[in-house]
Amino acid sequence: MPVFEYAPAPESRAIANLKDSYKPFVNGEFVDGSGEPLKTVNPATEEVLAEVGTASKSDVDIAVKAARKAYTSVWSKMPGTERAKYLFRIARLIQERSRELAVLESLDNGKPIKESRDSDVPTAAAHFFYHAGWADKLAYAGYGPDPRPLGVAGQIIPWNFPLLMLAWKIAPALATGNTVVLKPAETTPLTALVFAEICQQAELPPGVVNILPGAGDIGASIVEHTDIDKIAFTGSTEVGKAIQRQVAGTAKKLTLELGGKAANIVFEDAPLDQAVEGIVNGIFFNQGHVCCAGSRLLVQESVAEEVLEKLRYRVSTLRIGDPLDKNTDIGAINSAEQLAKIRGLVESGDAEGAQRWTSPCPVPDRGFFFAPTVFANVQQSMRIAREEIFGPVLSVLTFRTPDEAVAKANNTPYGLSAGIWTEKGSRILWMANQLRAGVVWANTFNRFDPAAPFGGYQESGFGREGGRTGLEAYLSV
Ligand code: NDP
Repeated sequence: MPVFEYAPAPESRAIANLKDSYKPFVNGEFVDGSGEPLKTVNPATEEVLAEVGTASKSDVDIAVKAARKAYTSVWSKMPGTERAKYLFRIARLIQERSRELAVLESLDNGKPIKESRDSDVPTAAAHFFYHAGWADKLAYAGYGPDPRPLGVAGQIIPWNFPLLMLAWKIAPALATGNTVVLKPAETTPLTALVFAEICQQAELPPGVVNILPGAGDIGASIVEHTDIDKIAFTGSTEVGKAIQRQVAGTAKKLTLELGGKAANIVFEDAPLDQAVEGIVNGIFFNQGHVCCAGSRLLVQESVAEEVLEKLRYRVSTLRIGDPLDKNTDIGAINSAEQLAKIRGLVESGDAEGAQRWTSPCPVPDRGFFFAPTVFANVQQSMRIAREEIFGPVLSVLTFRTPDEAVAKANNTPYGLSAGIWTEKGSRILWMANQLRAGVVWANTFNRFDPAAPFGGYQESGFGREGGRTGLEAYLSV
């Protein structure tokens, strides 16, 4: 079938209002951090986008003191009806500045503009709208007549959904009356610092939100600070485990949202064309930099060849390239380190005997790009079936019976998400009961809603974000 030629449709970079330099945000102001400034890079071109001031350990202390003061003197005393107005205002400002935020996110992270524009930024706004609604109704959330906030929350987020992860963390914390010290990832600090401008625009009381760019050691300083009451972390299982060890024996409350190796399970009775769209969305959305990505496809043996053929054709139509082009499906890998990690795991797949197919799509010469790849004949023992690749690489395994599908899907140390494709409702319910995963999607994948709790089992972490359940993580209950 012929594929249309596309004309370039680039979004204007000028919309991002990119500045030469950005600074940490403490006590309502942008301040000179005393850490070594970092340079944030556009992963699609490898050019430096801006210089970003970073925090040092002493800045962490200053930010925590500001957050504590804001907590005791203003925020924890404010009626929920008033807090709600600030959250609502922030949500509206995210909407007003959505194009700017989307372009900036795509520049700093490498994700396609159609994803930052249609998914990340609107969902971030939705989290603030949703939690604005809870702020004055906490007495009806099922946690007693007067649930109390915890105090100061230390929050550490990764680079794969920079603004959205910030919203997942800050919106529930503020709605429940906590104040925040947040560290964005080293490679993607920019939208968090524009969010700080939004806090100023919303006239949020100083100290309620503090944003400290910096490397992992600043994350560690936040975790070990003795005047922080709660730690919320999203990132790798390895760092999550280190944080859990650090927090052990203290009174700090902890939620961890870590890695995943989700099974996307396709039965022979599934609507296969629809399933192929779900498989593509499950693993190639955001270059596969998604903790709940459907990175292990389990397909029933009787339809395996047919599904693989349809899948390879569909994947070969994906366009890889300039993240700011509205026609781009797959943008840049976020960093040279992540690209090296993906390459290493793909080589292990070759060496262990899996059958690799890589899309023949043209790949840009400059920047960090990796063509969408599908491995067939994958065995459960292979590294590509066990480890989180966090890239546009799918591992395909087969099964014959529902029991075998469950056994293979659960054969992982993780447990964040899963997908089931079948036309039988009873099978969906039976499977969902057997799968050890925090989220199970049926005949769809990667659907997010602020009202739906999200979180994992086993090495995917613990605690839930979103929905009524997510409030609990920020309340003294
Ligand atoms: P990390 O877990 O290292 O980073 C997540 C956040 O934690 C970043 O803000 C990071 O800072 C910070 N951090 C790093 N070390 C510490 C520490 N000791 N204490 C507190 N905070 C710390 O993930 P990476 O970015 O290094 O990615 C590595 C791998 O992790 C990826 O290849 C992927 O497999 C997985 N990953 C999974 C994610 C998920 O959502 N499941 C998200 C991101 C990564 P800094 O940015 O400065 O390093």
